Amino acid sequence: MPRSGSDIAALASVDQLKAVMGAYFTRVKEAAEDPAQRVAWCSSVGPAELLYAMGFEVFFPENHAAMIGASKKAADYIPVTVAHGYSPDICSYLTSDIGAFLTGETPLQRYGFTSLPRPDILVYNTNQCREVKDWFSFYAAHYSVPVIGIHTPLNVEDISEDMITYISRQFRSLIPTLEECAPERFDIDRFRERIALSHDACVLWREVLETARHRPSPLTFFDASIHMGPIVVMRGTTHALEYYRMLKQELDTRVADGVAAVAGERYRLYWEGMPLWFKLSGMAKLFNSLDACVVASTYCNSWIFDDLDPANPFDSSALAYTRLFIVRSDDVKQQVITDHLREYAIDGIIYHDAKTCPRNSNNRYGLQMRIQRQTAVPYLELNGDLNDSRCYSEEQSIIAIETFVNQLAMRK
Ligand code: SF4
Repeated sequence: MPRSGSDIAALASVDQLKAVMGAYFTRVKEAAEDPAQRVAWCSSVGPAELLYAMGFEVFFPENHAAMIGASKKAADYIPVTVAHGYSPDICSYLTSDIGAFLTGETPLQRYGFTSLPRPDILVYNTNQCREVKDWFSFYAAHYSVPVIGIHTPLNVEDISEDMITYISRQFRSLIPTLEECAPERFDIDRFRERIALSHDACVLWREVLETARHRPSPLTFFDASIHMGPIVVMRGTTHALEYYRMLKQELDTRVADGVAAVAGERYRLYWEGMPLWFKLSGMAKLFNSLDACVVASTYCNSWIFDDLDPANPFDSSALAYTRLFIVRSDDVKQQVITDHLREYAIDGIIYHDAKTCPRNSNNRYGLQMRIQRQTAVPYLELNGDLNDSRCYSEEQSIIAIETFVNQLAMRK
């Protein structure tokens, strides 16, 4: 008899998470309102450390878009952007974020914002996709401010020295334009400090995720999707470091006490692809009710930049932000996923095929079948989207997930 999905053991750190994120948004808001301060917008795996080192407050549109998704209002906003010439098939972060802006709404209203924090500059890295450039260019045109970025090769198999040199130069080449509007001139020692802070927070974030290797796991993918906020928006600051020290401590205590994130954990699953932000808590409850714990994911592991090295800040930035899963070839992705399957003792994989994000949907070119042939770990493909709820069928998905877990039960 499946248990109720409502008896999920919430992490106590969630209160501190709300406080840390609230303080972050307050800093961004104050910077946007203070003529003496400057705000840079940054893509989620963009050069955050460089921007913090030059005195900017840093705002991340993808974090904002995920908040729109979680608020379940994306489907209201996407048609507004479509009416401005953007396809409904492209990134629903982009279309829901711009649509909310054009509608004059933001989930940041709860932090006192009346609109987005006005950027002084927008900075992207195309390591994740070209969409970030298109997205940021819309706002650059609207606010009449510069948009600059790093262009990273895609489908990278081996990361060569030439590639690192090429990308490292691009990091350096951002500096003159940043200095034209930054509160502080570039200083290599301040950059090293930010790189060291980011590295240390990333190591802690990795250790947080690795607590899920324990059986039972103290953490689910759905918890991690929420608790990843500080590593996305505050890496390179002491705030992220302090937060993950506390979260790690709570998880270590859970492990020592044998506290399970999913009481009665029987099945350990891997989530490949993005969260369905508008169904995060519903999914957590569903898997919980099936005694299935989603213990690991590609998505949450994507913010582990532990190659960052203060002794070599530019080259190590180039390496860390190119070694990223989304940048790599299918052969490298296969190796990364199969390692995770072994390390986390995975019984089954869920591939979330996000309709509007091909770059984060890795079941479109046969990778899922190659991994199954190699590992014999069964998989389920789930059609959905990160923000656009119109691409997701609740009924079909629940039946598919329940059937999949039942099949896992028969293999036990
Ligand atoms: S990676 Fe996907 S979800 Fe993220 S900005 Fe690019 S297209 Fe959008």
